[in-house]
Amino acid sequence: MPDSSPPRWLFGSYVQSELTRAVREADPRSSLRHIKASAVDMLTGPSGVCVGTSDGQQLLADEAVLATGVFQSEPSATEAPIINDHRYVANPWDSAALDRLAGSRQLLLIGSSLSMVDVVASMEARGFKGSYRVVSRRGQIVEPRRNTEAWRDFLAGRPLPKTTRALLALVKAERRAIEAAGLDWQGLPLTIRPWILALWQGATDKERLKFARHLRAFWDVTAHRAAPPSFERVALAQSQGRWAGGAGRVLALHPEAGGIVAEIRWRDSGAVERLRFDGVVSCRGHQEHDWRRIADPFVQGLLENGIVRPHATGFGIDATHDGQVISGDGRTHGNLFAIGHPLRGVAWESSSIGEQLAQAIALAGLLVGVSPRLRTLA
Ligand SMILES: Cc1cc2nc3c(=O)[nH]c(=O)nc-3n(C[C@H](O)[C@H](O)[C@H](O)COP(=O)(O)OP(=O)(O)OC[C@H]3O[C@@H](n4cnc5c(N)ncnc54)[C@H](O)[C@@H]3O)c2cc1C
Repeated sequence: MPDSSPPRWLFGSYVQSELTRAVREADPRSSLRHIKASAVDMLTGPSGVCVGTSDGQQLLADEAVLATGVFQSEPSATEAPIINDHRYVANPWDSAALDRLAGSRQLLLIGSSLSMVDVVASMEARGFKGSYRVVSRRGQIVEPRRNTEAWRDFLAGRPLPKTTRALLALVKAERRAIEAAGLDWQGLPLTIRPWILALWQGATDKERLKFARHLRAFWDVTAHRAAPPSFERVALAQSQGRWAGGAGRVLALHPEAGGIVAEIRWRDSGAVERLRFDGVVSCRGHQEHDWRRIADPFVQGLLENGIVRPHATGFGIDATHDGQVISGDGRTHGNLFAIGHPLRGVAWESSSIGEQLAQAIALAGLLVGVSPRLRTLA
């Protein structure tokens, strides 16, 4: 659905109905069992995988897939003094917490990307009449998705650039060409995105880290655009003078009786301003990609027991290009696989449905190839 933005509930129902259909149409010798418990530990060996669950079961399997999804990042040190304050919202999808702020006048939103758009849309839906002050490091605001054709495929039929600098030079030249042609720049990320896997896997870890350090913010804000209906809420608040954004850094947050006082250093002037807010919402993105910083006990156990190791870039875990997990001592398990978010360092764009769908199809083929039991069903 490249040109549409279905509401989340509709997408959820669609996924549920697709799963139901897949189960109904599957070979009758196969079965699906949903165990409503957490995986708490794992043992691996050449003959299989054993997963311990929070309800005391030991699940034995020939193969296992880590599809653990996204983990929420811990609040920043700046946010620590207000972490238990009822006027602070750490999770922008916490409905009850947003309800509490609906009647307030001044909100500080930290971050200006998709989570910020979600929060503004959610607050507007709650009848919030106050104003938003939005602060982010670079002050770049995500844009709404427009129905644009992909730009010409300038990466096809040539050796792919191997360095961040070479890629940037190429992209800048194409950006100028788009401008000269009077076309929409949003066609450019559409052209680049299908090449991300090849570009990422053709680069060294040093170049990948350079990209992550210097270009990630630009890539994220151009590749991941906002759903138009949500962005309309931001545009409306802007037009009513209720939304103001800027580049800056929140230096400190102090909980006081009359509000939360934020000390913000603005990037342009370097001046530090003290501003009082009725509420603060963290819109920093919330995805923790560094497995060493994920507090989840299952993840910690996998690392401590050497079943997985962090990817050299620090994003997700180490695995082969096709998602076979590599152990702490550098062996490919052969019966343990990963998909989606854990493969961020292996594939870079691994957090969205488009890439995850391609990974799922490829992984299904791989599993049938390695698993004698699955092969009998294929
Ligand atoms: C707010 C938000 C909005 C997003 N919007 C989009 C979007 O519009 N388009 C898009 O393409 N992508 C979006 N994404 C990215 C999204 O995460 C993925 O596209 C997709 O949901 C990932 O699917 P997944 O199954 O890999 O992970 P998830 O959907 O995160 O599911 C992982 C599952 O694993 C379970 N789990 C984790 N650890 C354990 C354990 N130890 N034991 C048992 N179960 C465990 C979790 O409970 C969860 O059910 C969004 C992400 C967020 C956070």
